[in-house]
Amino acid sequence: LSAGEFLSCWCLWVVIVVVFGPAGSGKTTLVGEFGRYLSEQEFSVAYVNLDCAVESLPYRPNFDVRNYFTLVDIMRRFGLGPNGALVKSMELLLDLVGEVSSKLEKLGLLYDYVFVDTPGQLELTLFHDAVVKLVESFARRGLALFLTPADMLKRPRDLVFLNLMALAVRVRFEIPLVTVLTKADLLDREFVERLRARVAQGLGGLEEDLVAELASIVDRLEKKQRLIKVSAITREGFDDLQTILHEVFCTCGELT
Ligand code: GDP
Ligand code: MG
Repeated sequence: LSAGEFLSCWCLWVVIVVVFGPAGSGKTTLVGEFGRYLSEQEFSVAYVNLDCAVESLPYRPNFDVRNYFTLVDIMRRFGLGPNGALVKSMELLLDLVGEVSSKLEKLGLLYDYVFVDTPGQLELTLFHDAVVKLVESFARRGLALFLTPADMLKRPRDLVFLNLMALAVRVRFEIPLVTVLTKADLLDREFVERLRARVAQGLGGLEEDLVAELASIVDRLEKKQRLIKVSAITREGFDDLQTILHEVFCTCGELT
C-alpha cells in the first residue's frame, strides 16, 4: 500500500457489523463468541441488541432494545399474540431508528468493532422498514453478515435456497454482504463442496430450467467470495472471518 492508501484505510477503520440470518441460524451466539474472540486480542467491541424477544444474551449490550420494549410488554400493552406483537415491535423500532443510529455513531467512534444483532426472525428484518432505515444510516461504514446455518443444509436445493436468501438481503440492504456458514461443527468437512458439485449437475424436478438459472446466478455471486465456515463452539473459521472483515473495511482491499 502507498502511504495515502494506508491512511485512507486507517481513516475508514470503523466497523459496524450487522448480523442477519434466519431464526436460529446462530446470530446471537456468533456475536457473543466472535466478540469475545476479538476482545481477547485486545480489540474493543460494542454490542447492539435489536431483538426484543430474546430472553438472555451471551454478551453485555451497549444498546439494548429491551430497555424500550420487550415482546411480552407489547403483547400485554396492545393485547396481541406473539406474531402480531413482533410486527408491532418493528413499528416501535422504526420510531427508535434516529436514537439507535446516533448511538451507533458514538459507539463507532469509541470501539474497534460494533456488532448489531438483529431480531430473531429474518422476515421482520426484510419485510419492515426499521432495520433497512437503520442500516441506511451507517451504510458507508457498515458490513452485513448473512448466516447460513449448516443444519439447514441437507439437499443441494437447500444450498441454492439459502444463497437466494442471501441475495435477497444483498438487494434489500445497500451494504457489502458476506455469507457465512455457521454451525460448521455439525458438518463433515467436504459436505458443502459435495452439495455444490451436485447443484452444478442440475437439481432436476419441477421447473428445473428456472432453478438451474437461479443456481447459476447464485454461483456467479458466490465465486466472488470464498465460503467462510465458522463454528461458535469450536471457533473454527474465526480467523477467516476476522480477515474478511479487515479486507472489506479497508476500502483499498478487494471487497469480494
Ligand atoms: P439466532 O436466532 O440466529 O440468534 O440464533 P442463536 O444464536 O440463538 O442460536 C440458535 C441455536 O443454535 C442455539 O441453540 C445455539 O446454541 C445453537 N448454535 C449457535 N451457534 C452454533 C454453532 O456454532 N454450533 C452449534 N452446534 N450450535 C450452535
Ligand atoms: Mg438471536
